[in-house]
Amino acid sequence: MTTPAPRKILVTSALPYANGAIHLGHLVEYIQTDIWVRFQKMRGHECHYVCADDTHGTPIMLRADQEGITPEALIARIHGEHLQDFTDFHIDFDNYYSTNSEENRQLSQDIYRRLKQAGLIELRTIEQLYDPQRNMFLPDRYIKGECPKCHAADQYGDGCEVCGTTYAPTELLKPYSAVSGATPVTRESQHHFVKLSQCEDFLKDWIQNGRSGNHSPLQDETRNKIGEWFGSGLKDWDISRDAPYFGFEIPDAPGKYLYVWLDAPVGYMASFKNLCARRGLDFDAYWGKDSTAELCHFIGKDILYFHALFWPATLHYAGYRTPDHIFVHGFLTINGQKMSKSRGTFITARAYLNHLDPEYLRYYFAAKLTGRTEDLDLNFDDFVLRVNSNLIGKYINIASRSAGFITKLFDGQLAATLTNEDDALLVQLQQRAETIAGHFEARKFSEAMRELMELADLANEYVNNHAPWELARQDGRRDRLQQVCTTSINAFYLLTLYLRPVLPALVAKAEQFLNVAPLTWRDATRRLAGHTIKPYQHLASRIEEDKIAAILADNRPAAETKPSPVRHGEAQQATQGESAMIQYDDFAKIDLRVARIIKATTIEGADKLLQLTLDVGEDTPRNVFAGIRSKYQPEELQGRLTVVVANLAPRKMRFGVSEGMVLAAGPGGQELWLIAPDSGAQPGMQIK
Ligand SMILES: [Zn+2]
Repeated sequence: MTTPAPRKILVTSALPYANGAIHLGHLVEYIQTDIWVRFQKMRGHECHYVCADDTHGTPIMLRADQEGITPEALIARIHGEHLQDFTDFHIDFDNYYSTNSEENRQLSQDIYRRLKQAGLIELRTIEQLYDPQRNMFLPDRYIKGECPKCHAADQYGDGCEVCGTTYAPTELLKPYSAVSGATPVTRESQHHFVKLSQCEDFLKDWIQNGRSGNHSPLQDETRNKIGEWFGSGLKDWDISRDAPYFGFEIPDAPGKYLYVWLDAPVGYMASFKNLCARRGLDFDAYWGKDSTAELCHFIGKDILYFHALFWPATLHYAGYRTPDHIFVHGFLTINGQKMSKSRGTFITARAYLNHLDPEYLRYYFAAKLTGRTEDLDLNFDDFVLRVNSNLIGKYINIASRSAGFITKLFDGQLAATLTNEDDALLVQLQQRAETIAGHFEARKFSEAMRELMELADLANEYVNNHAPWELARQDGRRDRLQQVCTTSINAFYLLTLYLRPVLPALVAKAEQFLNVAPLTWRDATRRLAGHTIKPYQHLASRIEEDKIAAILADNRPAAETKPSPVRHGEAQQATQGESAMIQYDDFAKIDLRVARIIKATTIEGADKLLQLTLDVGEDTPRNVFAGIRSKYQPEELQGRLTVVVANLAPRKMRFGVSEGMVLAAGPGGQELWLIAPDSGAQPGMQIK
């Protein structure tokens, strides 16, 4: 077997914005990048994985203002939260930095100067809406008003969410600033533009042939998408913003700042520069024009324009090398639908971590990633099934069925020699090493997982056919028993090696049990013969179904149960897109049912709650906790009819799971009246 020459590879994931929590949609990208990087390191390549928080721009500035803290304090706090989430999902960055760094300031300002020297910067005067109270120009999303077409109130500056019309912010009726509530005025300002229209020839060639001239940096489907953008000609790019703005000042232009999208990708370079200083690496060997290192960006399809047009043009005309690969992926859907805050499927990394092992999600994403740009669906039934039946049922099972015999009967010692038949199985597993490596390299992780599970099936079939538990009961079969268990432990060893990029923590435990050093891809040629293993320790458990409901319950917003009126002039409101009116379809989503209270009891330690057992016309009664103890004694409720929200996602409480919500009127305390239907209604009847 020949060893491939080591490559130098610099890998990035997109920079998450320092304005909110990491959610499962983000993790599609970080998990796939991390798997790819871990694979490259196992192959013996010099691979560096850098990322950073994207920290600049108006939303950060306004949010810090609202919290009464400095932007620096806000981004420091979010940086800590993001890094903790990533670490807990085993995302192993070589550096996780911030775009608000001195390295990034110097690089960004220098890139601006170089673009200016190249004749690519042009000053133009533009008209923009200005908040005279807050003394700032307003980005479109911070201007609200009445839709000029359907007259819906509180619509954004770029389009109406009620009728779908798009328009310029200046066309809004009764416009107001979402920052202060003031009526905006039109003002002129001088902006700095990058003349992207002059970069078209370079970009067209780069997109087809890449920097080396022999391969496109893009997947076929994204290359076609970009072809469409060229059709209408590239628009020049406005890269400046007026003060007040949280970002880097433009050199020699007081009061003008670099737009966040100029300095954000430069953050890849800055993070690496910081790593170079700490590890003594050569920055120019990776970013210089003549670099022979590979540069690979993993991004979502929503930021393709920035990475496939602005970014290579910026690098090229500023005298740096351009990327070799832009690996674009799709979005995450949950149970076939867009992630939704009101359905509780906008799942934060932390809510998931509170209930489930991060490696289950890593395995599931790996089992579904194809290296293409289509969306990835997290279907919870499929998720539970794949983890329980494949990962636990097939892979973990191989070790747990054989290890005990080796420990108890052979002092942990594996057989020194195997039969031809045993050998044939292991050769089959070893021969797939390069096929599986090829799938990892091409980011077709789903293919790698499919191959792996086929091999796991072969190994389990072998164990079933040779039934070590029966050999153990037969006289004179000890040697054969040791060989059979040695063969299956070796099969487990190979599968463990192939799974290592995906399941780093589980594999670390398996390596301890197998009593081997951290595995590299070369170890696939090795055989554990005459080797001593440690006693088998429990490696992983099946997913219990109620964990999924618990995750969803954690993510349901409080706003859903306590609707708040829309207020003018609050940026926080502006981002939530709430409306006081709902459509009939929204109402129809709520499944209201007649319920009979079979039993009501008080709960030790909860002086506001009663525990209700409800007949809702189903096979089994439901358990619901209701905050009505201030008004009602348990005995007066038994047998009464009430109304329950029957399709409310189950909510895990300190005392158990609540499977619905009963309705009551009034502010609380003694002023509380349980809702009841007229007599004659039956449990389970729908209320419309
Ligand atoms: Zn409208």
